[in-house]
Parts: sequence; C-alpha cells; structure tokens
Amino acid sequence: MNFIDSTWITVKSGDGGKGHVSFRREKFVPNGGPDGGNGGRGGTIIVKADRQLGTLLDFTYKRNYKAKNGDPGGKNNCTGKSAPDVYIRVPCGTVIRNRETGEQLADLDKDGIEVILAEGGRGGRGNQEFVTATNQVPRNFEPGRPGAELELELELKLLADVGLVGFPNAGKSTLISSISAAKPKIADYPFTTLIPNLGLVRLGEHRSYTVADIPGLIEGAHQGKGLGHQFLRHIERTAVLVFLIDCSSENPDQDLKVLRNELKQHEKTLLKKEYVVCMTKIDVLSADQIKDLQKSKFVKKHKARLISAVSGVGMAELAERMWEPVVQARLSHDM
Ligand code: GDP
Ligand code: MG
Repeated sequence: MNFIDSTWITVKSGDGGKGHVSFRREKFVPNGGPDGGNGGRGGTIIVKADRQLGTLLDFTYKRNYKAKNGDPGGKNNCTGKSAPDVYIRVPCGTVIRNRETGEQLADLDKDGIEVILAEGGRGGRGNQEFVTATNQVPRNFEPGRPGAELELELELKLLADVGLVGFPNAGKSTLISSISAAKPKIADYPFTTLIPNLGLVRLGEHRSYTVADIPGLIEGAHQGKGLGHQFLRHIERTAVLVFLIDCSSENPDQDLKVLRNELKQHEKTLLKKEYVVCMTKIDVLSADQIKDLQKSKFVKKHKARLISAVSGVGMAELAERMWEPVVQARLSHDM
C-alpha cells in the first residue's frame, strides 16, 4: 500500500541587479571614461535531499520561497553583490513537478542530491561594457535578467516510522488523530476497509514523522485471521513500536504477551525493535486509581506511560519520546 504525502510550494529566484552608468571623475580631467559596473546575479533556488527528514509537513507552514535580487552595479567598475542561493531541504524520495505543465523537475532519491529549480537572473552590464571605437562615452546599461517564478508540486511516498500495536478498541485510531497534524493520501490500495490510518506528526521545523495505526491485530493474525497480518509487513519498517493497552484491562501483562507473541510469530526480529508501552484512556480513571496504576508492577516493569488521547495527558511527551528512535533510524539508513 502506498501513502502519499503531497503538497505545493512557490519559488522565485532573484532578479539580476541592473548595470550602472557612471564616468570617472578625476581632478583636472573633466570627462573621465565610463566606469559603471555590472549588476550582481540574483539568488538561485536549489532543492536538496536530506535523509533526516521524513515528511513534507513543513511545507504546509511555509509555502513561498524567494531568493534575493542581485545588487545594482556601482561606479568605479564595481560589480553589484550577488544574492545568496536559497536551499530548500526535502526528504529523500521526494519528486518535484512543475504544477502547471506537470513536467518532472527533480527526483531526489539519494541523500545530499541537489537540483536547481530556478536559476537566479544574470546581472545587467554597466556602461563600461558598452565602450566601442565610435562611442567612448556610452550611457547604455542593461537591466538585470528577471528571476524565474514557479509553482511546484512535491510528492513523497511514505513509510511508517512508528507502529501502534494494540487490540481492537485499545485507542489506536483515536491516538493517531489526536497527535497528527495531517493525514496523507492513500494511493494504489484496493482493499479500502483494510487501510490502516497513517498520521503525520509535527514537533517543529524539520522534526516530523509518520505514525501508523495497525488495526485489528488479534490473536492469530499472523495466520491470516483478522486484518492485522496485512500490516505486520508495514511494521517491519518502523523505528519504534508503541503497544497500547487499555488501562481498564484486567491483565495488561497477558495483553502485552499476546501482542508481542503475535509480532514474534510473524517475524522474530520485531521483538528486537525498540518499544514503548502505553496505558490508554486514563481519563476514565479517578485520581486514586491512577496512583494505584502508577505503582503497579506492570507499569513499573515496562516504564509504561499513562496517556489519554481524549484529555491529552501524556501525549506531548509520547510524541517526543517517539522522535528519538525515528531520527536515529533515518540517519542509519543507507541511502
Ligand atoms: P482502535 O480500535 O484501537 O483504533 O480504537 P479506537 O481509537 O477506535 O477507540 C476505541 C474506543 O475507545 C472509541 O470509542 C474511542 O472513542 C474510545 N477511546 C479512545 N481513546 C480514548 C481515550 O483516551 N479516552 C476515552 N475515554 N476513550 C477513548
Ligand atoms: Mg482503529
């Protein structure tokens, strides 16, 4: 199954600075030669693949990218200052198209790749460049060339960074919708009822990741019962697993064992993955019940977090906790 993150941005490279018209002024020389300098180059817009990034979510918050214009030329044959280039960082795997024409401009499939999206405009020539045999005092100059303005479409196929594992009704879907900033599109997947949720979590600039809600993992899922086995494949890719156990469970220890056994049946190495245990829906408990739960053997043993997607308790901390293994995994991927 494919989850697609897609968004759009606009870019504008800088205009070139205009050429200058001036003449040397020297003592006792009434009309010196022309000395108007050329304009500087406008800034270029460059896109760069960065494996630390995993989603396009940042672009929802900043859509317009503009490079500065080159400075105009000056007298004394001074060339105007060129404007700095603007780098836009995108996750590896991002494909960029011209939104109007549909033409593909970049396929950033490897870490560190750079592609120029819009070249900065060249600076215009100053009057010193127009001197000819017949015209020793030119007043001509060129304006800078304009930069390019483009509307771009960005697209990225997503993989889950974090997998939520729990029995039906453990609160997976609710958790994902409460911490997510957006839901990506789903493409190329015919079994619509089997689609797990995938949410995009954004902690701040350049810190975003995906959380997949693996629905209906039940005992025997690895043998094809329930919906879960379709998605176990999806979990294999995740950096961290989060086990969700309803805080009202009679036997959380047993629940966790069953869930972990399911994973093991599918793929032993899944148990080696880093994991976090959460007791969900703690808003239904009284203050005393929460204290008891915190003191319980199970919670202590697994350093289980007490959370509620409904009241928000523990959610921000959980989102931060998931980020560390995610970014580590991205850095360790060979790309
Ligand atoms: P899933 O099957 O694991 O995806 O579970 P859902 O997210 O669909 O939640 C199952 C039920 O539990 C729903 O009726 C939710 O409204 C409820 N629920 C989920 N999270 C919370 C929570 O934090 N507090 C309370 N009180 N109810 C919750
Ligand atoms: Mg669900």
